Amino acid sequence: MQVVFPITESALQMVHRCESHREGEWIIYTCQDCPNYERRVQPSTGLVQVKGATNYAIDHVHNWPR
Ligand SMILES: [Zn+2]
Repeated sequence: MQVVFPITESALQMVHRCESHREGEWIIYTCQDCPNYERRVQPSTGLVQVKGATNYAIDHVHNWPR
């Protein structure tokens, strides 16, 4: 059995690259294209908080700060 997913323009996900910075124990990701978007990660506990309305068609790429 073969399943074929047709590739249409609307199926293509947009990818946003997020800016990241450290704030105490948190790593905070923000997106230049989504002013309300904020994602916080606490590496010591694995806790994740996401603020703001997010368009789920947009794939946010989170690079670990170096
Ligand atoms: Zn975005």
